[in-house]
Formats: sequence, C-alpha cells, structure tokens
Amino acid sequence: MATIKEEVISELESEAQVMQIVEAAFEGIDMDALTSMTPGLPQVARQNAINSLLGSKKLVIQQAPGGVLRLKVNTSQQIAGTEEEQVIYGLIEESKTRGIWIKELRDGSGLNQLQLRKTLKSLETKKLIKTIKAVGTTKKCYILFDMEPDMSLTGGTFYSDQQLDSELINTLISICGSYAASRRKHAIEANPNNIQLQREESYIRPQEIAQFITEKRILNVPLSVEDLDRILEVAVLDGSIERRADGKIRACAPRSSISPLVSVPCAVCPVVEDCRPGYVISPQSCDYMKNWLASL
Ligand code: SF4
Repeated sequence: MATIKEEVISELESEAQVMQIVEAAFEGIDMDALTSMTPGLPQVARQNAINSLLGSKKLVIQQAPGGVLRLKVNTSQQIAGTEEEQVIYGLIEESKTRGIWIKELRDGSGLNQLQLRKTLKSLETKKLIKTIKAVGTTKKCYILFDMEPDMSLTGGTFYSDQQLDSELINTLISICGSYAASRRKHAIEANPNNIQLQREESYIRPQEIAQFITEKRILNVPLSVEDLDRILEVAVLDGSIERRADGKIRACAPRSSISPLVSVPCAVCPVVEDCRPGYVISPQSCDYMKNWLASL
C-alpha cells in the first residue's frame, strides 16, 4: 500500500514540476531544455508526466520556426474536431485580431499543405474561422470567426472593403485646406500692418479641425486625431499646408498645380511599418501602389 501511495504522489509531483516549468516559458519549451531543468526527474517519470499532461490537454506540442517541437500550456478554447483542427484553431486563436498567414500556420503546426488546406476548409465550414484579405497584399489571412480584425488588416477609416477610399481622403484634405486658408485670410485681415501677428494667428491646432469635422457631422465615420494627422501629412506633402515643430498647421499661399504625392497610398497606409521590398507586404505585391503608379 505504502509503495502504491508513494508512486501516485510521485506521478503528481512530476506533473506539477513539468507544468510549473512549461507555464513559466511564455514561448514554450523544447524537450532538451525541459530535461535540463528537471534533473531530479528520471527519464520515464518525466515522459509519463508529459504524456499525461498532453492527454488531459493541459499542454500542447507546437512546432517552432526551424522545426523544433515545443511544449506549451494549452490556452486554446476546446472545440469539437480532429486533433489537427484543435492545433490550427489554437494558432489562429493566439493570433487574436491581427490574424495569421498560411505560412505561419504551416510552420506552427507541422502539417503538410494538403492536411492544412483540408483542416482550414473544415474549420471555415463550421464557421469557427474566416479569411481576411489584408490591405496592401493579395494574400489571405485567417482569424477567428467572431473576431473583428484590427486596423492593420482592414486599413481603418480610410479603407472601405479593403479599398483605399480616395474620395474620403480628398474630401478631408480639401476641408483641412479650406479651414486653414480661411484662418489665414482672417489673420491677415485682422492684422493688416503686423506680419508677425498675421503669421502667428494663422496657425491652428489639429484638434481644432478634428472638432470642426465632428461638430459639422461632415463624416459618418469617427475621425480620431491620429487619422486627421495622417491626412495632414498628405496635405503637407501636397504643399497646401505647412506644419511647425509644435504640431500646429497653417495654410500655405495658394498654388496652381497639385502634386501627385497627394494621392500616394503609402501616406495613409496602416501597414507602412511592415512594408519592405521582398517581404510578405511589399510595394511589389501592393495593388494600391500598382494602381497609383499606373495613374501617374
Ligand atoms: S506599398 Fe505603400 S500602400 Fe502598399 S502596402 Fe506598402 S506602404 Fe502600404
């Protein structure tokens, strides 16, 4: 009896020890590292503990880039489905609102192309996941069915159905330009003999324009100060306004021609930070860039 009790306690202790180490490893832990961190556990006891934790779905195995297998705490919601579906669902769930590319799913799951496509199709049919075509790329990205994709996928205020809403951008540039021009005119008329004051009083805080747009209900969509800043950056490139170091803007003197830079899609692109030649998101694969170049 005493021997049986001792073995049971020993199994529980082994599991607790393994679980504690895996829990502390945010990115998961490979077998070699786990072995070196549990020197007191005999090989068989360690393996039994791992098998038991995998069997009770407290842990999962994931493939890290480079093919190394890692143990991770299973944070995934359990779904009815095959083991492959559980793994793929877990990876998509982990990606949260940013979604995950098919290559990352293949690397993370170790499934071959055929298994992966079959599993994705099944999860889509069960309405557990959906695909999103992210802005700036033609490649599909996977996200949980009930999850709202974040701005880096949808493009935010300036995109509608993954299409750059140039009409909205042009309207906002025009409103900002007119507002600033009217302030400049007023500053000149109010201070006819003082160039310094004319200049100072023609500067406006961007928040003032954002407030004007909100109050006049010019847009049906909410416009944040960050969104307005992106519009102002385009207007600065266009040469219709200038911005000084404290962030205030003012209208430039009127010009006759409009620079093509006003419509460059990168100026309002939410994935500009991730866009590099040769990357998944790149100017070469970008439909907006192709269309813009074609329009020059
Ligand atoms: S080329 Fe410009 S618009 Fe296209 S993804 Fe890159 S930054 Fe965005």
